Amino acid sequence: MTDKIKVATTSLAGCFGCHMSILDIDEKLIDLVELVEFDRSPINDIKQVGECDLGIIEGAVANSENVEVLREFRRQCKVLVAIGACALNGGIPAMRNHFSLAECLQESYVNGIGLDKPKIPTDPELPGLLNKVHPVQEVVKVDYSLPGCPPTAESIWELLTALLEGRQPQLGPEIIRYD
Ligand code: SF4
Repeated sequence: MTDKIKVATTSLAGCFGCHMSILDIDEKLIDLVELVEFDRSPINDIKQVGECDLGIIEGAVANSENVEVLREFRRQCKVLVAIGACALNGGIPAMRNHFSLAECLQESYVNGIGLDKPKIPTDPELPGLLNKVHPVQEVVKVDYSLPGCPPTAESIWELLTALLEGRQPQLGPEIIRYD
């Protein structure tokens, strides 16, 4: 029997749509369970990432907690994969980069329609927002990237099986998309 690979996944500033694309591999999910063992991921309650063969990162880097989690994934995972437009180029979260952080906070918490007692949150428990949203590779080294919003299930499957088989993933145009 093939040894299982240990996989951790996380969503930084993302919408979990890329995670949903993993579920789109449909009946291959049964094969996936045979091939991988999950460390930290949305499907369990593990809070800290442990030593893993593969780390999968969805979402951009928008706050101090995102930076911390991402660096921990880089430390613990032999191979780190950034999936989806948000992770690769900042995607939708990076649309706020057209404005200053102060302008974004003012618009969201003070000028927003229908707000009750408008006030910018100052709770120290909240992770501090970065001045700009960053793609993952601006913060840590990334080994593989899968574009798309979200990437296709086929490209995710090819990446996982290639890493398991110890070969380079064949990520051709028929399974990669950029929208
Ligand atoms: Fe969601 Fe698209 Fe960003 Fe993935 S790339 S987290 S699907 S918005």
